[in-house]
Amino acid sequence: MKIIAFIESVILTISCFFGSIFNLPDKNAQKLIERNGGVICGVNHPNEQYDVLKDAGLGWVRFDIPYPYNAAGEISRSYLDFKARCKGYVDNGMQVLAVTPYPKDYVNIGGFDPSKDIEKTKEIAVFLYNDLKDITGGFQITNEMGLATFMYPLTLEEAATFIGVQLEAIDAAKKAENSDFMIGYNQANVSASKDLNNLLKPYLRYCDYVGIDLYIGVQTNDKASDYADRIKKLYRQVCRPIIVTEFGFWSEGGSKTEAEKKEILAYYGYASEEEAIADGMNFISKLPQQFRNTLFYEFPGQEDRWAELVFSKCSGHFYGQTSDATLENVGFTPEGQAEYFRRVIPAMRKLNCVAGMIIYCCQDMEICWTCGQSWCPYETKWGIMNLDGTPKPAYYAVKEVLTGTK
Ligand SMILES: [Zn+2]
Repeated sequence: MKIIAFIESVILTISCFFGSIFNLPDKNAQKLIERNGGVICGVNHPNEQYDVLKDAGLGWVRFDIPYPYNAAGEISRSYLDFKARCKGYVDNGMQVLAVTPYPKDYVNIGGFDPSKDIEKTKEIAVFLYNDLKDITGGFQITNEMGLATFMYPLTLEEAATFIGVQLEAIDAAKKAENSDFMIGYNQANVSASKDLNNLLKPYLRYCDYVGIDLYIGVQTNDKASDYADRIKKLYRQVCRPIIVTEFGFWSEGGSKTEAEKKEILAYYGYASEEEAIADGMNFISKLPQQFRNTLFYEFPGQEDRWAELVFSKCSGHFYGQTSDATLENVGFTPEGQAEYFRRVIPAMRKLNCVAGMIIYCCQDMEICWTCGQSWCPYETKWGIMNLDGTPKPAYYAVKEVLTGTK
């Protein structure tokens, strides 16, 4: 039996290797696409403009499942709100790719280590499956393990166990009722992800897909074809259909002029960086709460250096300044963002191993969650819609690429 399984895995690896080079059809991807009524096209952090999204060919949305219980062990309010939100999409003919909770939620709310108390972790995974299978189109088991902030407090090995046992438990529940409910996990585009995929090898057979978050060409000089290359590389590693669970581009960004920087310093009451640094914790106290939280988590016990760190490690956030390097020199402007989608979506869609792509994100945010400032593009300018929900040029570009209509 073991020999047959080994030979099967060798054949699969070879077929994915040649499949990635010659872009051969992948029968698992075809099956998944058929099940989903086409390649998944959707947005992250969706608003409730159901018809506007569907008009652009965006039939899927992706967001997080809160930890289902409160500290008293009862079903939590935020979980009930999540279910009501899912129902809104389903009632409007859309589908939800739901992301199961982060490890820290099991620790902080559940009071246990989810990589050690395996039975409890499995129990929650099966509960979520049974409770949500009719109002979601699939699960992504947690998010971007390999990135320290999301993985906290687990190691990479523990995070792989955390993902693997949930996949295993849900797969067993699916098999018991012959369900084709879609499950998988995702990764950031970082070097640790290769180790994560290796650690998850024993569990890949439970995955209907493997996801990747790609931001190539945002602060780096890359090409649209690099998206396809990165996806093919992952496909060769995991040999499963690929869903690009996040990808996007800022509609505003790049370097700031000296005059613009002076204006931001003046907003906080300083004429120069030196003056702000000399003011120490008094300067820090003027920063938004989110900025102070970031300093607290990133530089613990270094309060005496925080003022200086704002202008070194955190200078990008402070001034809302990014690198000018972009995808094929397309600018960080509303029109540049539209052009990004015109180039990147077709580059990904032509790959036979791709079963889905989900844009990051639906709508601009009011403030950056890292620094709390409205002028910082890092976490505010990803939307294909403006803060008020009106479409940007990127919305129309996506619509044209996906539906063929303007
Ligand atoms: Zn920021």
